[in-house]
Amino acid sequence: MVADLHVHTNFSDGTHSPEEVVEQAKKVGLKTIAITDHDVIDGVGGAVAVGGKLGVEVIAGIEFTTEIPKTEIHILGYFIDLKNVILLETLEKIQEGRRKRIYKMVDKLKGLKVEIPEEKISEIVKLKSPGRPHLARVLLEEGLVMTFKEAFDRYLDFHAPAYVGHYKLSPWQAIGLIRKADGIAVYAHPGTSNCDLMIPQLMAGGLAGIEVYYTGHSQSQTNHYLHLARKYGLLVTGGSDYHGFRSGREVELGRLTIPDELVEKLRARR
Ligand code: AMP
Ligand code: ZN
Ligand code: FE
Ligand code: FE
Repeated sequence: MVADLHVHTNFSDGTHSPEEVVEQAKKVGLKTIAITDHDVIDGVGGAVAVGGKLGVEVIAGIEFTTEIPKTEIHILGYFIDLKNVILLETLEKIQEGRRKRIYKMVDKLKGLKVEIPEEKISEIVKLKSPGRPHLARVLLEEGLVMTFKEAFDRYLDFHAPAYVGHYKLSPWQAIGLIRKADGIAVYAHPGTSNCDLMIPQLMAGGLAGIEVYYTGHSQSQTNHYLHLARKYGLLVTGGSDYHGFRSGREVELGRLTIPDELVEKLRARR
């Protein structure tokens, strides 16, 4: 039996509900999944409930978007206490920043003569933790771009004209917060951010693991991070980064799995 420890739902920028995700997990034979939505934990409860009925273990997780001056770093938290007050308060602040940022990006788009209908904007900001993929999907639905990728290339990418940042934690703040909420902090898809030299500094802040197995990692990246995990004594995790169907990221749930043994090592660290 196997596990997928990086899964998004429609509580952030996935397209399926937590319940649907767990049903799909059951269908594809996963024993364990972790729900790791961007800057939000509200999807976990529903997934745990359905997981209990279907016999799929659901680990309470999160994926924090953090930044350092050079780049964005994503930090995963596992086995977090969903009731931790400091965690909840911090998430509220981040989420408010994400919603305000949607309005700012819509304004920038308007300035570029790209008009998003009012009702679509209010749909997006109803979400606690909306992001750029939500805007990209609306641009596509409205025929304002031909592909999801074009939405990013023309408007939403970091260097594109409609980009707006939002309130983010530093990776050390995210790691500290995960630990305060009794969780285990893991560096997500390190191959994407390319900040290997930071790993010892992140470990000094309490980083416990590294996402070695990831759909976006090449075989040589996987080998490289496995080597680094051994060198530094970091836990090894992995997952698909599933976002659902027509999400702009077409990866199937369980496309990438890790053995139980690695989940047990993660659990043992609690
Ligand atoms: P946000 O957290 O709102 O800034 O949105 C970040 C998300 O947008 C990432 O997790 C990706 O899923 C997606 N994304 C970022 N850049 C691109 C890109 N160039 N093409 C497609 N998706 C992207
Ligand atoms: Zn995402
Ligand atoms: Fe990520
Ligand atoms: Fe992710």
